[in-house]
Amino acid sequence: MQDYELVIIGAGPAGMTAGIYAKRAGIKALMIEEGAPGGKLIKTDKIENYPSIEEMGGVDLAMKMFDHTQKFDLATAFSSVKEIVKTSDGYLVKTSDEEYQSKTVIIATGTKERLLNIPGEKEFTGKGVSYCAVCDGFFYRNKKVAVIGGGNSALQEALYLSQFAEKLYVVIRRDVFRADQVLVDKVLNNPKIEVIKKSIPLAIEGEEKVARINLKNVDSEEIFSLDVDGVFPYIGAIPCTEFASNLAILDERGYIEVNNEMETKLEGLYAAGDCTAKYLRQVITACSDGAIAAQKVATYLNEK
Ligand code: NAP
Repeated sequence: MQDYELVIIGAGPAGMTAGIYAKRAGIKALMIEEGAPGGKLIKTDKIENYPSIEEMGGVDLAMKMFDHTQKFDLATAFSSVKEIVKTSDGYLVKTSDEEYQSKTVIIATGTKERLLNIPGEKEFTGKGVSYCAVCDGFFYRNKKVAVIGGGNSALQEALYLSQFAEKLYVVIRRDVFRADQVLVDKVLNNPKIEVIKKSIPLAIEGEEKVARINLKNVDSEEIFSLDVDGVFPYIGAIPCTEFASNLAILDERGYIEVNNEMETKLEGLYAAGDCTAKYLRQVITACSDGAIAAQKVATYLNEK
């Protein structure tokens, strides 16, 4: 078993920023990530709202952040965290293949996509249903696609898909969007995109691949179909915090409750980024959380 002063769980913008700050403070730190570094960044086409970066691909920004952590020799393990157990000297972090003892832990595991939970969704995942426009958009060249949801993710990815698709439907369940006005304007002015308002998905159908999505108008209750080759649900996110459910630090929706200094109610345990209960989930706020959490860890370790 290896001993650390800090284990950071998650290598998204929050975790990587925490890593950079921790290493610069001289802390013996380990970052654990179950997939590729970058978190939601690697599923995002463009970042356009990070000051000084007018436009950069999400994958490029993720790689730049990861390279920055490696410049400071931040130890990184690629594994899935299963449980955190409180010990007399901090926390035991159990992954699928190792156990790490650490004086402090920062949880920065972000969110994952919420499912529609309608017939056909599971069956056609990978056969026309996708949760990653950046990964799969290319396969929809000259095809018809439905994007479900009216938040920033849905509109941003619909705009990305419009480079490839011949026709796009953006299906929203109310008659207003939840996204930033700049994205709404772009969507409304895109000739390939048709917005279907006040409609909810009922089922995704096809033979071997997706052929149509059935929708219901919430006012008239009329049921109708759109013939599409692809369905991209972007209906919000759920926090990746199941492994922390034994610690009594989650709110009723599964987000981690923290104060302004990223402290949970357990001594030595911090959280940062999208997995926390917060007002604004953005790359810049995740980075800010990560910096604060690592700085707080430095203070805590010094006082100890
Ligand atoms: P979101 O903001 O929660 O939007 C979810 C959308 O899906 C809403 O339009 C919602 O409708 C709809 N929806 C939810 N459940 C549904 C269901 N069962 N059936 C049909 N529609 C459903 O989620 P998000 O877009 O994934 O964004 C998550 C967070 O990341 C947000 O804080 C967002 O601002 C942030 N983000 C920011 C950017 C950016 O700044 N460029 C990019 C991506 C994400 P209602 O509006 O009717 O509830």
